[in-house]
Amino acid sequence: MSKLLDRLYEKSPILLQELALNGYALGIHFERFGREFHDLLEYWHKTEWFSHSDLIELQNEKLRALIKHVYETVPYYQKIMKERKLTHVDFKTVNDLYKLPVLTREDVRLNLDNLISSKFERSKLRHGHTSGTTGSPLQFYWDKHCCLVNNVADWRQKNWAGLNYGDKYAVILGRTIVPISQENPPFWRMNYLHNQLWLSAFHMTEENLRFYLEKLEEYEPLVLEGYPSTLFILAKYLTSHNKTFSLKAALTSSETLHEAQRGIIEKAFCCPVFDYYGLAERTIFTTECEKHCGHHINMEYGIVELMNNSGEPVGKDKMGKMVGTSLHNYGMPFIRYATNDVSSILPVSCSCGRELPLMSDVTTKAEDIIVTRDRGYISPSVLTHPFKPLNGVKASQIIQEDINHIIIKIVRTPEYTKENTRLLLDAMKKRLGNNMDIDIQFVESIPRTSAGKFRWIISKVPLQL
Ligand SMILES: [Zn+2]
Repeated sequence: MSKLLDRLYEKSPILLQELALNGYALGIHFERFGREFHDLLEYWHKTEWFSHSDLIELQNEKLRALIKHVYETVPYYQKIMKERKLTHVDFKTVNDLYKLPVLTREDVRLNLDNLISSKFERSKLRHGHTSGTTGSPLQFYWDKHCCLVNNVADWRQKNWAGLNYGDKYAVILGRTIVPISQENPPFWRMNYLHNQLWLSAFHMTEENLRFYLEKLEEYEPLVLEGYPSTLFILAKYLTSHNKTFSLKAALTSSETLHEAQRGIIEKAFCCPVFDYYGLAERTIFTTECEKHCGHHINMEYGIVELMNNSGEPVGKDKMGKMVGTSLHNYGMPFIRYATNDVSSILPVSCSCGRELPLMSDVTTKAEDIIVTRDRGYISPSVLTHPFKPLNGVKASQIIQEDINHIIIKIVRTPEYTKENTRLLLDAMKKRLGNNMDIDIQFVESIPRTSAGKFRWIISKVPLQL
């Protein structure tokens, strides 16, 4: 009897945790997966085949309604429009957007109250915040419809990847679903309502990965979703044990997906990777289709502009900072919201036939780009190559201290040799130029951010666009 009680005691916190997770899932279920969700998703599967001019027309119509709404109900924009002698009729198409200023993080921080529409009660809005990977977290609000649209954008891509609502899938994202202090399995919790297995991103040690794999083999998900870094850890584990785990697709987001990571994940899981880019501020959503030629801009979701540091638009195929306008968050409208993320619009159309424009498949934080005197800007993907031939590197991180100096942190395995260091330095010099001082530091581990994300490159040198 006492044995049974002991077992019940051990089990109950996990049962309670699963109950809490399923309670949360139930709470959002009707709002995010109700009739409206399925109808809108069906509509988006029609609009994805619209011609580019019809998509622009769809944006124009939504923009006119949004500007009328902010003109009538959002104090922050009422003030600006009054100062600039504008009314909502001055905005007929997306080409009129320039008449409003860019909205910065600082503007949001300072004008939080005035950015909320008087038509909405703040207590009825959903509270959101950025993870604060670069600086302090930013607070803001979404209305219900905006949350629904976000879910539609998310599921349209899941459909592109072959996952349909109700199919089994597993996720390894940043939510702490398993207490950090827990030392033994299960390192996962089950969301029964959405057929979703949540695996912890914070317990992925070499010793624990065996349990992760056993659980995945038992659960047999069609799709695995995670940060590039979490899927990469699992893929590396599989590769080093000469194993594979077959999936229909792997979905990644929230961190830059480097080319080398993509290759290893695809091999280990015998499937293509579908990467997507979204912002907590919900102004921009870009998704990869089955052709994997870049990320399609979800034009139904928001308007994307690319700018240089002076706020001028950059041409196609040129790098610029991404500025986004949400067409759906009427509770707290974000118009021309500037991110610190850098990408480019590709000058080609996708062979899938969709006319949603393509962005480069690498969208990088400005502070993830290395700046050099000899070679200009170096994208993180380029720097993954020098690591490819090294078998003794378990994890690495590159920190640019100033224009002439980078530090490479390395977590070694016993296979690491002096030859590895020589190869790495040679290959890095080739890409960064001879004027770059490169220090290699061996460390025990590389910390994740508080949101569980991993930043492979941290540059402290500002980017001049
Ligand atoms: Zn496509």
